[in-house]
Amino acid sequence: MPTQTVHGLSVDEAQEHIRGLIHPVADWHEVDLRQALDRVLAQDVISPIDVPAHDNSAMDGYALRGADFASAAPGTTLTLTIVGIALAGQASTITVGAGQCLRIMTGAVMPAGCDTVLPQELALDRSETTISFAADAIRAGDNRRLRGEDLALGKVALAMGRRLRPADLGLLASLGIARVAVRRRLKVAFFSTGDELRSLGEALDAGCIYDSNRYTIFGMLTRLGCEPLDLGVAADDPEALRAVLEAACLQGADVIITSGGVSVGEADYVRPIMQELGNVDFWNLRMRPGRPMAFGHIKAGAQQACLFGLPGNPVAVMVTFYFFVRPALLQMMGITEVPAPLLQVSCATAIRKKPDRTEYQRGILSRDADGRTMVSLTGSQGAGVLRSMSEANCIIVLGQDQASIKVGELVDVLPFEGLV
Ligand code: AMP
Ligand code: MG
Repeated sequence: MPTQTVHGLSVDEAQEHIRGLIHPVADWHEVDLRQALDRVLAQDVISPIDVPAHDNSAMDGYALRGADFASAAPGTTLTLTIVGIALAGQASTITVGAGQCLRIMTGAVMPAGCDTVLPQELALDRSETTISFAADAIRAGDNRRLRGEDLALGKVALAMGRRLRPADLGLLASLGIARVAVRRRLKVAFFSTGDELRSLGEALDAGCIYDSNRYTIFGMLTRLGCEPLDLGVAADDPEALRAVLEAACLQGADVIITSGGVSVGEADYVRPIMQELGNVDFWNLRMRPGRPMAFGHIKAGAQQACLFGLPGNPVAVMVTFYFFVRPALLQMMGITEVPAPLLQVSCATAIRKKPDRTEYQRGILSRDADGRTMVSLTGSQGAGVLRSMSEANCIIVLGQDQASIKVGELVDVLPFEGLV
C-alpha cells in the first residue's frame, strides 16, 4: 500500500498500486470467428500459409519482364507480343519469353519470367496481339504483390493479448482460420448505495433521486465486453451492504463496483463491512472529480473478487471508472496493447485549476476556421452534472503539476470515440 500523505494519493500512485494487484484471467475457450470480435486472443496466432500464396498482379494490365525495358533509353516506345491471358483464381501455366507479355487481371498469379505489371491505362496502343508503351512509364517490379508480403508462413500474425478488431477478423479469415482461442469474459457485479436512490419504475419520494450510476456503469462495462451483473440498490445500512457484497462474490463476480457511500461521514457504513470481508484500502485521491475511492479484494466462501468503491456523484463515477477501473479491467481481460496516447490540442477557454491535483474536465473537440483542432468546455462542470458528460466528446486531463490554463494553451484530451 503506498503511503498516503495528508493530501492523499496522486492518480499515478493509485493507478500503479492497482496495476500491481491485478492479474489476467487464465480461462479461455474457442469461438467462431464472428463471435471473436472485441474478444481478447488467448494465444498467438501463427500464420499457417503465405498470404498471398503467390506473386500476383495488383492491377489489370500486362505482365512483363523488367529486363525487357529496364535498360531502354528514356523516351523509347516498346512493343511486346501478347501470348495469352491470366485471370484471378487460375494456376499459372504460361511462361513469358523475351519481347512477350501476358494480359493479366488483378489478383492473377504472375507468370514465370515476369516481375512487373503495366497498368492497362498506360498502354499507348493495343491490338489483339501486341501492346506498346513508353519505357519510362514504369519501373521493374511495379504493380506486383509478392508472395507472403501480407503474412508470412510461420510468423506471428496476431499476438496473444490483442483485442480483435474488424481488420483482425478479416486477417484471420485470409489465413483460413475459422476458430480462435479467446479469454473468457469478465463478470462484473455492480450496485449503488444510498437511501435516497430510487430505481426506474419506482415512485420518486420527496428528497429522492433516480439511480443513474447503475446505467452509466452498465453502459461502460458493456462497451468493454464485460458481462454486467446488476445487483440493484443497497440502503445505507451495514447489513444490506454485507449481504449484497457477499452475494456478488458468491455469484462468481471477478470484479465488484459500488458507487456512493465512500466519502467522509457516510464512509463509516461502508468501510467496516468492506474491511471485514477482505483487504480494502480507502483512498483520498488528489483529483477532481472523484476524490474518495476504495480499492481492494473481498472474499465470501471460496470466492474472491476485486472491489472498486467509487464515489457517488455521477460524473465522478464515470471519471474514476475510465481512469482506474477501465485500465484494471483491460489488464484482467489480458489485453496487452498499449493505449493510444492522449492528444494535445489548443484550449479555446481559460480554465481555472488548483495545482497539486489532477483535474478532469468535460470538453468538446472541434476545428476552428483555420482547420486547427481545439477544445472547449461543456457548460457546468459540477461533479453531479451528468449532462456535461453527455454533451462532451472528450475528457480534458489537466495534470497534477499544471496550473490554470490560458486561452490558446495546449492541453491533453482523451477523445471518447475511436473509429474502430
Ligand atoms: P455519496 O458519495 O454517497 O455521498 O454521494 C454523493 C452524491 O452522489 C450524492 O448527491 C448522491 O445523492 C449522489 N449519488 C450517489 N449515488 C448515486 C446514484 N447511483 N445515482 C445518482 N446519484 C447518486
Ligand atoms: Mg450516499
